[in-house]
Amino acid sequence: MIIPGLKGPSAPVDTITVRYGETLRSLSRRYGLSESALAQLNRFVSPAELYAGAMLIVPMTVNQNLALAGRANLASGRSLLELAIVRNEDPWSLALDNNLPGTWTVLPGDVLRVAGDSQTDAPNGLPDAITKVEVDPLLMIQGGTAVIKVYAAPGITMRGSLADRTLNFFPQEYGYVALQGIHALTPPGLYPLTLTGELSGPGGEHFSFSQDVLIQDANFVYDPSLEVDPVTIDPSVTNPEMGLWESLGTPVTPEKMWDGLLASPVPAELTNCRTSFFGTRRSYNGSAYDFFHGGLDFCGQVGTELYAVAAGKVVYTGLLTVRGMVTVIDHGWGVYTAYNHQSEIFVKPGDLVQSGQLIGLGGATGRTTGPHLHWEVWVGGVQVNPVDWLARAYP
Ligand SMILES: [Zn+2]
Repeated sequence: MIIPGLKGPSAPVDTITVRYGETLRSLSRRYGLSESALAQLNRFVSPAELYAGAMLIVPMTVNQNLALAGRANLASGRSLLELAIVRNEDPWSLALDNNLPGTWTVLPGDVLRVAGDSQTDAPNGLPDAITKVEVDPLLMIQGGTAVIKVYAAPGITMRGSLADRTLNFFPQEYGYVALQGIHALTPPGLYPLTLTGELSGPGGEHFSFSQDVLIQDANFVYDPSLEVDPVTIDPSVTNPEMGLWESLGTPVTPEKMWDGLLASPVPAELTNCRTSFFGTRRSYNGSAYDFFHGGLDFCGQVGTELYAVAAGKVVYTGLLTVRGMVTVIDHGWGVYTAYNHQSEIFVKPGDLVQSGQLIGLGGATGRTTGPHLHWEVWVGGVQVNPVDWLARAYP
């Protein structure tokens, strides 16, 4: 294979997954190939194709000294000479190492290979204040929960957004973490994940970085149209109830109260008895398929014991037309769980509950075709697939 920009008549190539924070510029520095050669090799017509999670063809033989080199962002207003002095290097070697024709050709915010550091993730295109960003999963999916870990120096302020949702960042020993649900009806495609903030100290410099991530189709199945009491699909009833429901999961409590996997909300013998899964597309009384199933349904009878799935604070109990008798628990960091169609409720708003605590009994109140528990998990104001939260510990 003949690759433009690579030495020799042919060169072995490899494919890599583009991590969040990698730009065409940073990858060209990493693999010692010009940006245009890298774009040509991958048949890119636009830099937008370099989304986080994309597969990229790169030369296989990477000089380990290059791959393990450090990186430095050139702050705006700073010259290569100043950077060289700060790093105790000479500017002409810096220019040479970065394939620059001269010390005057660097751009503000440019990513440069520098000696000294040996971060395996370097060099990347992130602002200098951020060492590394882990996006899990890198390829997102409708109804999924995204975990964004930002490794950064202490003291910086951190904000961000994913698609149209504002991220809530919480301080950790390594930097910051945010959890965000992906709405089940988000059209599949590329969406920006944007990180902004200020460096610590007086007059801290503002930084901003944005890169697209891919949200994939979960291929939710279409249920046969359900026949229900017409009052439970009357918009004059369902819209205010939906408004209340969404408002309950919006506040963000800074204290994280859950720990590890969520427990089962039903007795052990019913944990694997599930009658309907999250995300199935629904039609009521022959309507369009504008609805989706926002929770996970467990088998149960009137009187089946229901348990809190993690420690938290009860924020709502009541009787609603569609959802029946409900309990909503705040677990902190914008994570909530809800328990619908109950026959009895044993807790009240303000109560602090523990994981596994009996909080009510199953029933058939509200819009339902029979007794069962409809259980929901909310993350960042969005209903997510509860199965994920039973299978892995977040964050
Ligand atoms: Zn349900």
